[in-house]
Amino acid sequence: MMIKSEVSKNSFLLFFSIIVCNCVFAQAKPNIVFIFSDDHAYQSISAYNSRLAKLAPTPNIDRIAKDGMLFQKCYVTNSLCTPSRATLLTGTHSHINGVRNLSDRLSPQITFPAILHDLGYQTALVGKWHLKSDPVGFDYWDILINQGQYYNPDFVSAGGTSRVTGYATDLITDKALSWLGERKKDKPFLMMIHHKAPHRPWEKGPAHLSLYEDVTFPEPETLFDDYSGRGTPAKKQEMSIDKNMTLRSDLKIHTNPEDDKLYARLNAEQLAAVKKVYDPITAQFQSLNLSGEALVKWKYQRYMRDYLAVVRSVDDNVGRVLDYLDKNGLSKNTLVIYCSDQGFYLGEHGWFDKRFMYEESFRTPLLMKWPGVIKKGSVNNDLVSNLDFAQTFIEMAGGKAPERMQGLSLLPVMKGHTPSSWRKSLYYHYYDHPAEHNVPKHEGVATKEYKLISFYELGEWELYDLRKDPHEMHNEYANPAYLSVVKNMKLELDKLKRQYKAEHSTD
Ligand code: CA
Repeated sequence: MMIKSEVSKNSFLLFFSIIVCNCVFAQAKPNIVFIFSDDHAYQSISAYNSRLAKLAPTPNIDRIAKDGMLFQKCYVTNSLCTPSRATLLTGTHSHINGVRNLSDRLSPQITFPAILHDLGYQTALVGKWHLKSDPVGFDYWDILINQGQYYNPDFVSAGGTSRVTGYATDLITDKALSWLGERKKDKPFLMMIHHKAPHRPWEKGPAHLSLYEDVTFPEPETLFDDYSGRGTPAKKQEMSIDKNMTLRSDLKIHTNPEDDKLYARLNAEQLAAVKKVYDPITAQFQSLNLSGEALVKWKYQRYMRDYLAVVRSVDDNVGRVLDYLDKNGLSKNTLVIYCSDQGFYLGEHGWFDKRFMYEESFRTPLLMKWPGVIKKGSVNNDLVSNLDFAQTFIEMAGGKAPERMQGLSLLPVMKGHTPSSWRKSLYYHYYDHPAEHNVPKHEGVATKEYKLISFYELGEWELYDLRKDPHEMHNEYANPAYLSVVKNMKLELDKLKRQYKAEHSTD
């Protein structure tokens, strides 16, 4: 009996130690909070110290860089909402995951949240999804329908659809914090917080309706770009503040009672607050009778006041998440990331929107903090990509990325030990044409020094010398002085296309 009892006691102790070890191991795995915004230009994050930094600061997003790393050269593979999200989840280029255009659906395939789930993570997603199919690999998901609404949006979860009163950026954060409070405390978690903001039409939240109304923002040097140094695509795009930004829906100048139908989503209280701000602006606009450059300048100021106020509410809500992690003792073992699905033009080249491989839309903001792993206040200048996130998270979770994934784990970069073999060039391919904004299909290759772009359906090439011409105003493709650069960049493009198993579109 005694022997049996001893065995039983020892078995219990062994069983108990395994449970304890598993829990300790599980808790040691880092949590991941991935905060993702839509169309958030790096030029409007004050950590990047652009022309807008002092007048429209983002103190909370900046906290991530202050406590961690600011990435100066993060780029996307295809500068558009839906394709960028597919690349984030699958770690593959658009031609591999099949999501090339805005209207494409993500088919069933390997994604990093499902892998993290298999590795013992609790996984959650709140906010904009925009991939048509339901999210897979999440314990909890609660998403906006397509683009979603800024005011009183409908959310869809596994349990159905519900309309929630309030402002999208606040509501998405409320839901994320609520899930964090209810999660199982003995397991690591992945929390993806995907904001709708600051996507067009830049509807400000109730807390920021008047925020920048007295501020005049500096214009970019290229606001009145005449595209003389560029080819057909820059001349024929339909994304200019002058010609394509609408007074009515983009800038909320409502001169006809019918125009207020755009506010059909708002309740009486919300509508009254919005009209209190925009009715006097409309009256002033009508009295000014602007045209030409003066009208462009006025539209630019309206655009910036709306866009930057929308960004401010994102920033406030990033602060809520960081405070929650601090107060609940989670900051130490959590990687916090802030980034956007792509960059955006804030008047550079006279534009809004994205799509082009030119710098402002090709590049995206990226800030990370992870105490004890990422050095506080560090700045990174390596070429990194939204292709890299999936593999980074899988490696952090103790897994191995599937062969199919095409990025690189950022872990050595985050630790300040970028290998000497790190990538020296990036491949880009934009497909969504014909479509809104009239940006032709193009692919290209970029190094830190040069960018070669092929608008292959037009048979037009562009080469930019990024050191001499950072604003990309002079196409050097036909300049004999760049003959060998063109040749080398074409070889690099071919090499990347073979490496990524890309289609042949330029031959
Ligand atoms: Ca977007």
